[in-house]
Amino acid sequence: MAFTDKIYVKNHRQLASQLETNIPKGAFAGATLDMLFTGDGLSKLDSTTQDRILDFAEDFLDCDCQANPYCGCAEEKFMRYVLELRAEGLGPQAIVDVMSDDYMVYAYTGDVLSFLDNSVRQLEAVETLSDVEGNEEMSERARRAKRELSG
Ligand SMILES: [Zn+2]
Repeated sequence: MAFTDKIYVKNHRQLASQLETNIPKGAFAGATLDMLFTGDGLSKLDSTTQDRILDFAEDFLDCDCQANPYCGCAEEKFMRYVLELRAEGLGPQAIVDVMSDDYMVYAYTGDVLSFLDNSVRQLEAVETLSDVEGNEEMSERARRAKRELSG
């Protein structure tokens, strides 16, 4: 399962009752995105919730792809967002707190931790491959990114 499949809508039950319908727990599930951004879904929610959801849309769903919101950009941007929080020195629990405050979504700290570990491992693989290929610039970039995440 991708990391973004493990990002959940906070106050899920409350949200479902405001929408008067059931929505999946996963924040990036197609039905959740449909429900929130099509029709009058959004207008049924209280203003605090609306603000968070609009922030989420603005920050992650703002691409021009025809397949939006199913093009994958949102997931990619969200992962970058988490990696940036890590680069700022936040640990898994603090990262979960920030995403809850910012967008009313949450993840389990264990999932955040393994996502960060995987990202570091991926960077290591890029670094090794770049070294083999003699691509110093790429190798240095991977090394720097890895250092940021290991902070
Ligand atoms: Zn896109």
